[in-house]
Amino acid sequence: MKKAYIILIGFLFLDLLFCVPMSHAAERDPALEQRLSSTLGVGLAPRDRDALRTILSELDDQTPVATYARARAYEALALAIHDHLIEDALEIIDTTLGHDDITNHPIARAELVNAKGEIYIHAQMREALGQLLPELMEPGIDDARVYYHRLHLIGRSYEFIHDYEQALTYLLRAHEVMMTIEDEHLQRRRQFLNLHVARTHARLRHFDRARQTLDNTIEESYRYGLEGRLPELYMVRGFVIQVTEGPNEAAEADFLKATQAPEGEPVGRTQMLAFNNLGALNLHNGNYEAAERYFEKGVAIAQAISNTYELHIMLFNQGYVMVKQGEFEPGLAIMETAFEDFSQTAPPSSQADMLNYLADAYQTAGNMERELEVVRQQLALREASYRAERERVVGELQVRYDAQEAALRIQWLEQESALREARLAEQQRNQRWIGLLSIFLFVALAFALLAMRRVRKLNTQLYLANKELTELSNRDPLTQLYNRRALFNFPEQRGDLIILFDLDNFKSINDQFGHDIGDQVLLSVSQRLTAALRAEDLVVRWGGEEFLIVIRRVNDVGIDVIKNKIRDAIIHTPFPNIDVNASGGAVYMAGRTDTWQDAIQRADDLLYQAKQGGRGQIRADIEGELQTWPMK
Ligand code: GH3
Ligand code: MG
Ligand code: MG
Repeated sequence: MKKAYIILIGFLFLDLLFCVPMSHAAERDPALEQRLSSTLGVGLAPRDRDALRTILSELDDQTPVATYARARAYEALALAIHDHLIEDALEIIDTTLGHDDITNHPIARAELVNAKGEIYIHAQMREALGQLLPELMEPGIDDARVYYHRLHLIGRSYEFIHDYEQALTYLLRAHEVMMTIEDEHLQRRRQFLNLHVARTHARLRHFDRARQTLDNTIEESYRYGLEGRLPELYMVRGFVIQVTEGPNEAAEADFLKATQAPEGEPVGRTQMLAFNNLGALNLHNGNYEAAERYFEKGVAIAQAISNTYELHIMLFNQGYVMVKQGEFEPGLAIMETAFEDFSQTAPPSSQADMLNYLADAYQTAGNMERELEVVRQQLALREASYRAERERVVGELQVRYDAQEAALRIQWLEQESALREARLAEQQRNQRWIGLLSIFLFVALAFALLAMRRVRKLNTQLYLANKELTELSNRDPLTQLYNRRALFNFPEQRGDLIILFDLDNFKSINDQFGHDIGDQVLLSVSQRLTAALRAEDLVVRWGGEEFLIVIRRVNDVGIDVIKNKIRDAIIHTPFPNIDVNASGGAVYMAGRTDTWQDAIQRADDLLYQAKQGGRGQIRADIEGELQTWPMK
């Protein structure tokens, strides 16, 4: 989203650059500018030197700054391109650029910088052009014509350094800007631009596009009477045909047309290259004589226009044809010299390409030893070329890497801010949770406190319940007396009197009056016993209708008193016709070591004796003295 926005702004910015009317229109002299345009023939440098000289002589302090700069630029271009006076031309440009009013005037400066770039391209000053590129890229040219020139200059600069993708981008951009220039030169500019667009497509191996553009442009060139660029157009089309269809007649026909200089123009580089291509095509087809003839013509032109780079190539080719025709010695000598000269300026890859033919020439001449040396040299050059290429590619990749890195950094920043927002949202969510949690915890705590209180209460209740349970477990359900187990919770005490007794003939009471009545009798006996004795004394239901009584410190009360109390408690008639009686054994626990167990055992024996002795009595052992207490 954000990226698209930035791109949109970028385009708007360009549109502004394209559409803003010439704000420095007043700083131009339209009449003089019209005359300047008229000095141009084919190409970027003025052809009408006399007219240009006149214009230059008219320049003075009153000349608007942009017009002045343009005139000086034309002067420099004419010197460089037609007179091959590169240094003089560049000096004119630099001197003019040094003027204060021009330094501060973007359009005037742009006119001169454009001319400088053209000269660098023309003079093949690769390094200088590379250094100029950043300045060429600077924005701020609000003059459509100058900006258009700037864009196709950048495009051709990239073409020159073999970056055809970039070249195409800028040439197509130049095409857009071209549409906004309001003068009568649209077709001329279109032809020029299309030639470069087609050439770039061809370099990018977009042969269909190149061919289409060339066909259209050649046709239109005739229609609009713009024949000046036809040789270059035919030259590129011949190349495209040769690559796509092979070295056929159509390619040869196009190259032949390219050898014809435009009317009123001297024979130039295009014609030289066309002859070279014709030579190569014929060499390829085995027409050595024709090839030799074409190379000769090419060499002548190269010498005339002082194009040493291509001169070496064509001389080399000439030598090659000679070898192919059997003239080994002179042919190889020419080739060696041409290569030596060529290698002074040519890049390693071009040198290696050339050595292909030298090696082939040595093979043709039967000099295998030298052929091998050449191949070895070629390999070394290839490696150097690959290395250079690799460095170039790495450099390009580095630039792309930097751009990607920058994009990634932006992306990361975006992600980071998104993350921060997410974190903030999470924090808020957490705070909400913490709030809720606090409330929850508070409530939980309250509940916990309540629960604790409840638990404590419950515990108390449980304790009480347990105590009750304990009590219950110690008590006999029917009579509420202590049960047999409970007795052992109480310690034996010296001076205790224990009495174990069993109701007599209780079975018959049950039988006679029913079990419930039997229970009532048991209950009645229990209550009477409990009532008759002190709280500290223990009354235990020992079993069914057996009872155990412990009289604490019996001497305090006296055995006789106790004996009567017990008799009165047992022998009563709870129901009118039921007599209750009992038999028992009593033991006085005088010794410190007496235990419940021993005492009860003894009492049980005495009880047995009482039953045996006729019931209704208690047999007592009072410190060894046996007594019988009648219960009647
Ligand atoms: P003895 O004089 O020899 O003791 O004669 P007895 O009938 O008492 O003899 P025994 O000990 O054989 O019988 C005791 C009876 O007491 C038997 C049993 O049904 C009755 N019994 C024991 N526990 C209870 C009780 O809780 N309620 C009732 N109603 N009867 C009980
Ligand atoms: Mg019994
Ligand atoms: Mg009994």
